[in-house]
Amino acid sequence: MWYNSNNYPTFKHFVPYVTYTMSEDPSLIACHACDLLLKKPVTSPGKKLICPRCKSTLYHKKIDSVNKVMAISFSGLLLYYPAIFAPLLTLSSAGMTQKGSVFDAFLSFYHQEYYFVAVILFLTSIFFPLFKLSLLLSITIQIKLQIYSRSLPFLFRTANSLDEWSMPDVYLIAILVSIIKISGIATIHYNLGFVSFVFLTIMTRATASAIDSELFWQKVFQLKKSVKGVPANG
Ligand SMILES: [Zn+2]
Repeated sequence: MWYNSNNYPTFKHFVPYVTYTMSEDPSLIACHACDLLLKKPVTSPGKKLICPRCKSTLYHKKIDSVNKVMAISFSGLLLYYPAIFAPLLTLSSAGMTQKGSVFDAFLSFYHQEYYFVAVILFLTSIFFPLFKLSLLLSITIQIKLQIYSRSLPFLFRTANSLDEWSMPDVYLIAILVSIIKISGIATIHYNLGFVSFVFLTIMTRATASAIDSELFWQKVFQLKKSVKGVPANG
């Protein structure tokens, strides 16, 4: 449904919380659920916009999004090495002791010819978390330092699309299930790798909830406009 410029419905509900559909006109916002086109009101951080027709959440303006994403992605990258390469658990049973890291688990699956499991583990828990956190840190540093590179829009789109692939939480659940199963037959000691992996999982998930996509796109477009010779709508 389309409205002329003098007859846009107004937002009546402002409540604290996602998916936001960006229209080509930055002064307009389109509901992702019912396609209602609305004139975008000025919102304050921490508030969300609700569609007056279908009550879907249109946009959640997040507080201090760029700084939060930069801090979370930097913290995640600091945790990355111990999370992936340090031993997670030490298992002791009948005089035998065994320990291993996430990377050891990947190698173990690979050498036992469980190639599909090895590839899934490598992509979801080792490669994509590192790729996503590195991308987000790079994007936020470029925004903070006002550096525009032609690849910035592509990098931000790529970072957004990695949410479905970066899933260390799946492997964490598998570890927790294993702990419950073997707790009766072996003594378990938690190592630095386990604590780091738990926090890496939290950081990877936290980036998704800290990103204010509209704000990021605004910053990207502002940087693009500030670069001489680059068309703003290109
Ligand atoms: Zn709607």
